[in-house]
Amino acid sequence: GPSPVDGKIVLITGASSGIGEATARRLAADGHHVVLGARRVDRLAVLAEELRAAGGRADHGHLDVTSLDSVRAFAGRAHDRHGRVDVLVNNAGVMPLSTVDALRVDDWNQMIDVNLRGTLHGIAAVLPLMRARGAGHIVNVASTSAHRVDPTAAVYCATKYAVRALSEGLRQESRDIRVTLVSPGYTRTELTDHGGDPEVRAAVHEMSERLGIPAAAVADAIAYAIAQPDGIDVNDLIIRPTGQG
Ligand code: NDP
Repeated sequence: GPSPVDGKIVLITGASSGIGEATARRLAADGHHVVLGARRVDRLAVLAEELRAAGGRADHGHLDVTSLDSVRAFAGRAHDRHGRVDVLVNNAGVMPLSTVDALRVDDWNQMIDVNLRGTLHGIAAVLPLMRARGAGHIVNVASTSAHRVDPTAAVYCATKYAVRALSEGLRQESRDIRVTLVSPGYTRTELTDHGGDPEVRAAVHEMSERLGIPAAAVADAIAYAIAQPDGIDVNDLIIRPTGQG
């Protein structure tokens, strides 16, 4: 990996568990400076301390991606502190699944607010900083649900299809900023621990536990995209269990 001098300043949303946490571990081990954001700051503090104890560079801050002010403050602090933001990993996400018929409108809105609006807020917070420098990299974590629709996941898929469309649109507009869409399949994380229809959640949780790949496998894909030379933009990566249909 690169020496610490070459390390990038990488902001990671949703770094308190799962794919975000694994990405923080992998990128810190690669010599990047990771800036961890999520609502559970107690977890972020423990992780940042662990990464520093292992010789890595990490700091953290409270972040609620549903609030543009919160995302701007998070990115602004990182920029003030480090003088630049090289990479944003828009990873924070929620998946409270149910059929559309169940009309769990609060869950729909939460998925839109975190998965879609949260990603847009991240872009709004860092894009001016990156355009000013003429360099940067935005990594959006979507899902195989950005590529095909499954029962009980209509709204979740809608948010992830939207993130995919957004990523491609941003890529087309950008000659100096790299845009990467990373689409994991079943991955063993805490994603199926909260929200949605309890029966659906139990079934998806069971699938994830049985089939799921480790979060580190997704982190490796993100690290690969970041490690490419500036002139090479890895746009679209799908990482799923071999056994996923
Ligand atoms: P986890 O539940 O383990 O992690 C989700 C992360 O998002 C947590 O760190 C959580 O932190 C954060 N988060 C949730 N809401 C907010 C918010 N309002 N503001 C800031 N952070 C928030 O699940 P995963 O690691 O699996 O999920 C990461 C991404 O991967 C998501 O976008 C998910 O859709 C995607 N994905 C996951 C798959 C899987 O099978 N696991 C498959 C395909 C895609 P906190 O609660 O502390 O704020």
